Amino acid sequence: MVAPMEDVTRFAPSPTGLLHLGHARAALFARALGRRCLLRIEDIDAARCRPECTAALLEDLAWLGLAFDGAVRVQSRHFADYAAVLDALRGRGLLYPCFCTRADIAAAASAQHGPSGLVYPGTCRGRADAAALLAGGAPHAWRLDVARAMAEAGPLSFHERGEGRIPCDPAAHGDVVLARKDVPASYHLCVAHDDALQGVTCVTRGADLKEATAIHRLLQALMRWPEPRYAHHPLLLGADGRRLAKRDGAPSLRALREAGHAPEAVRAMAGCGA
Ligand code: GLU
Repeated sequence: MVAPMEDVTRFAPSPTGLLHLGHARAALFARALGRRCLLRIEDIDAARCRPECTAALLEDLAWLGLAFDGAVRVQSRHFADYAAVLDALRGRGLLYPCFCTRADIAAAASAQHGPSGLVYPGTCRGRADAAALLAGGAPHAWRLDVARAMAEAGPLSFHERGEGRIPCDPAAHGDVVLARKDVPASYHLCVAHDDALQGVTCVTRGADLKEATAIHRLLQALMRWPEPRYAHHPLLLGADGRRLAKRDGAPSLRALREAGHAPEAVRAMAGCGA
């Protein structure tokens, strides 16, 4: 483990199941790097997140010997904060309602793959009937007009620990969703807002989220939030070389504990030399 070198880091799990070794790696990495390390529960998706998973993860982290600083922030209690950001961006003409279904997007001839999946083809941008559809209660998401947003923000980059400054291109993601149809917020919005609110100075997370940093930098620029540093850690891979995931049967920390492994042994399994 390196000596702590960042002021404030955070571990931000989504309580959709039991923690596995990949989560333990992220938590250990955040804790090792931060003089202060916060815990945030990213549970805006009520259909996938369960309170009993939050309770279990708190217990598993304590068993692992990890203690966090300050109060735990539980995102589902703060929808009003996210709504205020959406209002501000909407008032500046940077959001538009999107009525498309997943199938509509996939079927659009111009739909292309970007760093975070299908790039939205812009079908609802500037739609003449948007106001009427909204008034009629049509289900809709709110998307960021990335071209407009970038015209305001200018060129963006981020500082990656060990690599230095890296240019980034939010446009590659297309017009991302900031408020979902089923949830009045989104991962990108909540994570960028909360990192700023909580004074996180170094965002630590798995390398699978490195591409998302472009969108977070754009939101920070638009909202005049401070720019944190970033440290993306290598993902823990299974024997098949693929990232560990619950759906592929990665053992939970709880299962390892019940099989008699000591916390130190599990920490060693999850370690990444940080
Ligand atoms: N909640 C996200 C996850 O569990 C992590 C978000 C982040 O660290 O930026 O994958």
